[in-house]
Formats: sequence, structure tokens, C-alpha cells
Amino acid sequence: MARKEVQDILSRLSNERREVLIEPEVLCILCSYSVPTPVYEVISDEAEALEAAAKIGYPLVLKVVSPEIVHKSEVGGVEVGINSAEELKEKLSVMSSKVSEVSPAAKIRGFLIEKMAPKGVEVICGSLRDEQFGPAVMFGLGGVSVEILKDVSFRLAPVDEEEAMEMMREVKGFPLLNGFRGRPPMDLKALAQVIVKVSKIISDVDSIRELEINPLMVYEAGVMAVDARGTLLKKT
Ligand code: ADP
Ligand code: MG
Repeated sequence: MARKEVQDILSRLSNERREVLIEPEVLCILCSYSVPTPVYEVISDEAEALEAAAKIGYPLVLKVVSPEIVHKSEVGGVEVGINSAEELKEKLSVMSSKVSEVSPAAKIRGFLIEKMAPKGVEVICGSLRDEQFGPAVMFGLGGVSVEILKDVSFRLAPVDEEEAMEMMREVKGFPLLNGFRGRPPMDLKALAQVIVKVSKIISDVDSIRELEINPLMVYEAGVMAVDARGTLLKKT
């Protein structure tokens, strides 16, 4: 049985006959499973943006929110490191026109104002419902590791912390997380817990087809999911 916040999101999508979750919805689902996310607000105009920014505090990240836009950076829909109200106003105005110009068909549902997270090791934790095998969870390092090298590990979901640890150790890039050339090791336990939770979400919530955190920032202490997307199964 999915939790209340998750149920609310699922019924909203059902009412709208929408299959693609927007980023704040996925962040909310993650949050309800206690996966750490940055503080965020969805705004629709400049006044709301400034109000949210004053509450959240700089530096901030500004992102476009639209179910039709999967890769936000590709359409000019992500600005990181915004440090002042002036900069926020300018980036919001540029982003609004740029996104509409590049993706005219996309319906913009607002913009996300998100607290900027410190730099960490970027990893990907995803999940999907395979027609044959059922729910599965995936782990890989960010950037080229997954997209080009396909350096990923998979397990059927749900997994426990021990299996999540094995998944991490299986990828070739594991030394990047475990103290490479004198660098400090990252918080493997916190990372394992996120893999466990993502595997639990896909196992618990039958209507989710795919859910992915990309990237999850991993630190010496703690982790933070700074981008997430998801889709529901098609209604037949
Ligand atoms: P896309 O839809 O293009 O994947 P993301 O939300 O992942 O957009 O943003 C692109 C990149 O910006 C991320 O890979 C990450 O490096 C950085 N980023 C996004 N959100 C944050 C944040 N809250 N704090 C720090 N960096 C961020
Ligand atoms: Mg991303």
C-alpha cells in the first residue's frame, strides 16, 4: 500500500490522464521514503520566484517543470549556481523564452527553485518494471559511465542493504566511491539505503513503470537526490 503523499500524486496523474511524473512529484515520492532531497518550491512567476528564493536561500538552482521535457539541460531548462535575486530574475526570464523557443510543444507547468547541493560524486539509481521479470533496481556512476560505458549493476527488487552494497562493488567505477588515490571514501551506507528505498518504491507502487534519480550526489557524509524522473504504466 503506497503512502498518502504517493496516493495523492497517483490520483492527480490519473485525473489528468498523464503518465509522466514531473520532477517535484518524484522528489516528493522520494521524500516520503526518506530519501534526502534539496529543499524546493514550484513557482509560476517572478514574484513567487523571489519569495521562494528568500525562504530557501542562495545559491539556488532553477529548472523548468514540464512532463514533455525529459532532458531539461538540453533545452536550456537548468541553471545552477544562482547567487542573487538579480541573477534569478534574469535567468528566469531567459529560461522561459529559451525553453518555449526550443520546445514549443511542451506545456510548462512552472519552474522549480531548488537549493544548490554541494558537489559530490554523482551516481544514478534507477528502477523499472520488466514485463517478464517484474520490478528491478539499477545502480551506476554518473556521466559517461552509464550512458557510454554501460557500467551498471541490476538486481530484482526489493533488495536489502547487503545486496545494495554488492551492486555498488560490482561496477568498475567503484574505486571512485571507495577512496581512490588517497581521496576519502564516500558514505556507502547512505548510498546503499537509497538503493534499498528505490527498490522498495518500485516494489510497493504497482503503477510505477520507471523511476530514476540522476544524479544522486554522494558525500563523505550523506547523499542528496538532486534530479529525479519517473513514469507510470500505460493504462490499457
Ligand atoms: P536534466 O533533466 O538535464 O538531467 P538535472 O536536474 O539533472 O537536469 O540538472 C543537470 C545537472 O545540474 C545535474 O546533473 C547536476 O550536476 C546539476 N544539478 C541539478 N540540480 C542540482 C542541485 N539542486 N544542486 C547541485 N547541482 C544540481
Ligand atoms: Mg538529471
